[in-house]
Amino acid sequence: MFERVQMKQLNDHLWLMDDNHEGTGYLIAGSEKALVIDTMNGFENVRAIAATVTDKPVLVINTHGHCDHIYGNVWFDEAMLDEKDLKIAAWHFSMPQFVKAVRQYGLKVPPFRTVKEGDIIDLGGLTAQIISLPGHTPGGICVLLREDRILFTGDGINRHLWMQLEESLPLAELLKNLDRIAFVKEKADWIAHGHAQGLEPVSLFDKLREGVRQLVEQRGTEVTDSDREYDWFGGRALQHEFDENSVIVYTRDKLPAVDMAKEFAVIDSYCGIDCSACGFRKDGACGGCRETEGRPFHMQEGKKCPLAGCCQKKGIRWCADCGDIPCEELNRFSSDPEHGDHPAGARIERLGQLKGELLSKARQGVGTLAVCGLSCGENCFLGEWCGRCGSDYSCCSYAALCPEGKCPNLLCVREKGIEGCWDCPELDACQKGFYGIDDRPAANLAKAGALFIRCFGRSAFSTMLHYILKEKGQRYNDFFKFMEKKSAEELLAAMEAYYGED
Ligand SMILES: [Zn+2]
Ligand SMILES: [Zn+2]
Repeated sequence: MFERVQMKQLNDHLWLMDDNHEGTGYLIAGSEKALVIDTMNGFENVRAIAATVTDKPVLVINTHGHCDHIYGNVWFDEAMLDEKDLKIAAWHFSMPQFVKAVRQYGLKVPPFRTVKEGDIIDLGGLTAQIISLPGHTPGGICVLLREDRILFTGDGINRHLWMQLEESLPLAELLKNLDRIAFVKEKADWIAHGHAQGLEPVSLFDKLREGVRQLVEQRGTEVTDSDREYDWFGGRALQHEFDENSVIVYTRDKLPAVDMAKEFAVIDSYCGIDCSACGFRKDGACGGCRETEGRPFHMQEGKKCPLAGCCQKKGIRWCADCGDIPCEELNRFSSDPEHGDHPAGARIERLGQLKGELLSKARQGVGTLAVCGLSCGENCFLGEWCGRCGSDYSCCSYAALCPEGKCPNLLCVREKGIEGCWDCPELDACQKGFYGIDDRPAANLAKAGALFIRCFGRSAFSTMLHYILKEKGQRYNDFFKFMEKKSAEELLAAMEAYYGED
């Protein structure tokens, strides 16, 4: 009767609706009313499907605002949704293909009625309770069918949790929200999610929570470092396994930022020497060169160590931040036969190693996209030596030329409290910082990037980049060499053309 949607009866008043394995909806029939949870892709008349098993009036609720859960709303007069997903739903409803199809079949998108945490829907003998779970989307909800002890979770809890989306919350927020609703484990035995073929035991909740916790608390350890890449149509992400055939898909910018001040606590000296095991430190005769402000015990008459003094004069935290590393003085200290390192050069090696660790931590949670719209990751010669734009270890070569080594675009974005220049109303005419440089092709490329993101969003930008890098086999660098002497507007047009080709 219906070709795409297969009905599977779960008990005498509950059905699972599998839309061609592309989305799952549910139908609950109470003695007074029926409730459809998610209307799937809408290719087939969901109201007619419901009518094959119930003659009661049918209410509709959407777990969130994504197309594979809301497009079938067109078969109804009204649907319920959390207010925070209205914008996302409107965006999906504005897709040209959808608009065309809806017009063609003489249908229309019904209005939403908003629901919130704690709302109860009485179906007659069966009660559905709304539980808010922001994460996958900001307005994601779960529906608890109390009598059956089933929690309908949409895409908020499933075996393929997409958290890489622009609208997805940071993983630490998701963790907090999962903990907030942990009480559902006492109220439900089963989870019915938005891409399921059947019911899952509620233990899925804890398994997923543990995966999220690992990402939040053990980032940068071998637990997360082994996460593989994940290709999807919006670009490249990472996937973290949490159970058999189950992953959390995320991007690094969804991870919590690293507290660099805490990370720097491992550095106990300016020159990289490890004084933690020194006898003078242990017996309290010397606090180490940082605590003594560069006057450790071996300096006579409270004189300052030349290496510490040099760092202080240059305003850098330690020798590893110096452009002249390893300088003659540092080499002399390290290879001094009497007071130097064993083996010679040990502290220089330690500097490099510590710096490498700090850098990789600085980069975590910081995307390759600079606030000005330049994608540094694939492009910059500083590559792995830079902690990336805005991080504590940014070594942006442009910023280095600016007063106090601070990029005016970054300062401006921070002051305005926006994510990047693409969010700024003054972008078009802006000549600030990087944008004001005429002889740098990368400057126009940056502005074109910001203009592109303003129109199409960040994930479209990464799709476009991915296309240039992978499909066209071009390096971003070559792309802008080819585009040299082109204005930001011309570059934007070229990016749009690439995006359209994809
Ligand atoms: Zn979704
Ligand atoms: Zn979905």
